[in-house]
Amino acid sequence: MIEKRWADVRRRIAAAADRSGRKAEEIRLVAVGKGQGVEALAPLAAAGQIDFGENWMQEAQGKIPRLPRHLRWHFLGHLQRNKVKSLLAFFSLLHSLDSLPLAEEISKRAAPQAPFPCLVEVNLGGEEQKSGLPEEALPAFFTELQRLPGVIVRGLMAIPPYAADPEQTRPYFRRLAELRRRFGARALPANVRLTELSMGMSNDFEVAVEEGATLVRVGTALFGPRGA
Ligand SMILES: *Cc1c(COP(=O)(O)O)cnc(C)c1O
Repeated sequence: MIEKRWADVRRRIAAAADRSGRKAEEIRLVAVGKGQGVEALAPLAAAGQIDFGENWMQEAQGKIPRLPRHLRWHFLGHLQRNKVKSLLAFFSLLHSLDSLPLAEEISKRAAPQAPFPCLVEVNLGGEEQKSGLPEEALPAFFTELQRLPGVIVRGLMAIPPYAADPEQTRPYFRRLAELRRRFGARALPANVRLTELSMGMSNDFEVAVEEGATLVRVGTALFGPRGA
């Protein structure tokens, strides 16, 4: 069951990549396991899925030690500064860097020889209840990162406003890709490299791939409804 859904999602990613002249290997599938138990994640790990995403530190900390050691964990949710220690201990990429104080805390705690990889979350829809930096704040934010060598920025992430029709989300994905292009052409600090675009969820990951996503975050399409 889960293997079939996994194969199906990967087939749809490959088809979307093909439609847009991209290689399927350019896109990494992050299986979002929030609200799912270890018993739901383990079969997917056994089938070969490596990248898993979590939103809540406490839940993640309970699950990660009970799953195989070779898995790569992505933190996707809004992270409080007092959880940075756990971030560094359990995770390999933060998708949701959204404030300078959080970047400062990560930089302070990361070993100087091992800067922690992050994506900067951009609030494209200007939605007040959502986290993420407004795009106008990006230039100053990138400049500030110059003095934070313990952080290494690998790209951008966004969660566009929900729309039932994925075509309505396309302009947001296009916008994030455009921001990566635009800032990629500027002089940025050595620890800011905009390579990755984390965008697309169960409802719209194919559109995100067509628009350049390198990481898609998929939960429901793999595991079914949460808490079911
Ligand atoms: C829950 C979540 C997802 C996955 O959502 P689905 O619609 O279940 O695929 C992806 N990204 C983030 C940040 C999430 O919180």
